[in-house]
Amino acid sequence: MQIILASQNKNKLKELSTIFQINSSKHSLVSPSRVLNVIEDKETIKENAEKKALEYFEFYDSPVIADDSGLFVDALNGAPGVHSARFSGENANDEKNNDKLLDLLQNNSNRSATFKTVLCFYDGKEFMYTLGELNGEILSSPRGENGFGYDPIFEVNGRTLAEMTLEEKSEISHRKNATIKMVELLNEI
Ligand code: IMP
Repeated sequence: MQIILASQNKNKLKELSTIFQINSSKHSLVSPSRVLNVIEDKETIKENAEKKALEYFEFYDSPVIADDSGLFVDALNGAPGVHSARFSGENANDEKNNDKLLDLLQNNSNRSATFKTVLCFYDGKEFMYTLGELNGEILSSPRGENGFGYDPIFEVNGRTLAEMTLEEKSEISHRKNATIKMVELLNEI
């Protein structure tokens, strides 16, 4: 089956499609011919992924996968979480989001955090969800030039995600873990 990936991000399509192929998926991902503007206003990344999947399915009448991700910081009770993209407000950007997070964690010794991705598949009959996680530590100042979002302040095994190549990051990422689980679920149907 061909599954539409509910995203306008070509890099995401490439990353997830490659994971589908490498893990012997019976199915393939395709990009939507038209990108829909789905408002991500739910309280959890799972509900946002589900909302996106539903709206894409209703438009295309074809199986879809939608995703939503966020950074969950233990010392902040899971913030920024579902609000990761807009953490610093209306005019949020990566730098402002990172600065806000570092300010909030100043003098806090608990630096544990988790990136999470939820994927939601919907084919008009059933929903299937997978969760991928990546555990790490929030640094006190950014390091590295690669990646996006919170990558420069998120450290795994001594390196920030922004100090890794795209390939190195993709090997361990929350998105990869969620995608492999989805390939396994879909191969069963
Ligand atoms: P999205 O659902 O993939 O668009 O992710 C929502 C937000 O979470 C992004 O705008 C980033 O702020 C943050 N985020 C998600 N995944 C990553 C990642 O791999 N690295 C850094 N930040 C991420």
